[in-house]
Amino acid sequence: MAKYVYFFGNGKAEGDETMKATLGGKGANLAAMTNMGIPVPPGFTISTDVCEEFYKNKRKYPASLEKEVDEQLKRLEDLMKKRLGDPEDPLLVSVRSGAAVSMPGMMDTILNLGLNDKAVEGLAKKTNNPRFAYDSYRRFIQMYGDVVLGVPHDEFEHALAQVKKSKKVTLDTELTADDLKKVIELYKGIVKKHTKKDFPQNPKDQLWGAIGAVFGSWMNERAIKYRELNNIKNLKGTAVTVQSMVFGNWGDDSGTGVCFSRDPSTGANEFYGEFLMNAQGEDVVAGIRTPEKISALAKKNKAVYDQLVKIKNHLEKSFRDMQDMEFTVQQGVLYILQTRNGKRTGQAAVKIAVDMVNEKLISKEEAIMRVTAEHIDQLLHPMIDPKAIKTAKVLTKGLNASPGAACGQIVFTAQDAEKWVKEGKKVVLVRKDTSPEDIGGMVVSEGILTSTGGMTSHAAVVARGMGTPCVSGATEVLVGNKIITIKETKLK
Ligand code: ADP
Ligand code: MG
Repeated sequence: MAKYVYFFGNGKAEGDETMKATLGGKGANLAAMTNMGIPVPPGFTISTDVCEEFYKNKRKYPASLEKEVDEQLKRLEDLMKKRLGDPEDPLLVSVRSGAAVSMPGMMDTILNLGLNDKAVEGLAKKTNNPRFAYDSYRRFIQMYGDVVLGVPHDEFEHALAQVKKSKKVTLDTELTADDLKKVIELYKGIVKKHTKKDFPQNPKDQLWGAIGAVFGSWMNERAIKYRELNNIKNLKGTAVTVQSMVFGNWGDDSGTGVCFSRDPSTGANEFYGEFLMNAQGEDVVAGIRTPEKISALAKKNKAVYDQLVKIKNHLEKSFRDMQDMEFTVQQGVLYILQTRNGKRTGQAAVKIAVDMVNEKLISKEEAIMRVTAEHIDQLLHPMIDPKAIKTAKVLTKGLNASPGAACGQIVFTAQDAEKWVKEGKKVVLVRKDTSPEDIGGMVVSEGILTSTGGMTSHAAVVARGMGTPCVSGATEVLVGNKIITIKETKLK
């Protein structure tokens, strides 16, 4: 019988780093790290074969999958000495996506799965930390509601903001256990309103709901678009990793962060990254709190910082490339949740490749292969003189949709762009967003600036294709009738 589910935990895994096609990059590297003795929370990975069969068979799983998941879940419960849904001491898991090629943020993840009205009380009592327990439950309802049940996420955000306002606090961390109970009640109401059902209380139903959503996210619009843009083809699909939770939201001795073994923008051989205390998962990239630099972790917990430095060195040596890692600290204990070869700028790619040859980590031939055509392309674009950056006045920021530097007079329409360029002027096209009929004006512009739209917006995609510098999603830029306003500055 085919094997669909691969366990990792307790220093040994059924998979390894050579199995990316089957376990996805995330699953294969979690297995590899487990085998290396790096502290990774145990779990199991459902293979990409299941995803392939799921879509071949009208979204039905292979017949033996349920039994195999049950067996591996039992194994995980035995190892963790906790049971999913146990009303006194529940096991909580995350359900994570991950294809052979990394598609950061494009697919879905659900954290804190296994909580319900009873288990949350058990967790509060068992940990003697009600605030943490209710915070985890409200996070779970929010994530599961959004990702699995299709409830608009802004309604949750609105409810959370409401409770914060009524308590006159600005940070999530300032909410007490009782405040969070109120948030949970509001959240449950939102779920009921949209799904006409109560929030699912059975952990097995929750688990299969989450697994289905992650496999489903392989074919969501943004994932398809991302594969198209990045020319990612011939993959079987995503794997699904079910992993025991560790909690950065436990309290002030806990936290979560992202780090790189070298600086991904300059390539300098310096430890680089950010973290947030008393936070979980995507708080680092999303939240309203500003993360701290990784070096500040040394002041908070020297032992954890030193251990993290050791691990990043170990991982970089083993994978022989710059690593991008996720970590969580729970009550002063460090866990690694992900590692992958880090994305980098063209400048960093060259610096890292050359440095690694000098460090005798890779050969010259490998170094050349590490620098892609896109990296070279990036390096050949004009850029702002690094010496000038220190004194230049930054008007606003947006997304780095397409690299390079551009200079020209502002135009507001594609027609004006074409007209002015014919007159011998250089122009920068500024718009709320762009659409296919703007293409003529986009081609002749030195650069493009949009106030809305992400990295996959029309402006961003077209600009990248043409090699034209583009900043998209510069939300502070208010585009009016032939005038833009950026805070106090008006430009005509
Ligand atoms: P993505 O592929 O979008 O990065 P991830 O599966 O890596 O999604 O998860 C999103 C966030 O949740 C990451 O910050 C990750 O570290 C965190 N996370 C995932 N699983 C766990 C877990 N078992 N315990 C604690 N945090 C987790
Ligand atoms: Mg991740």
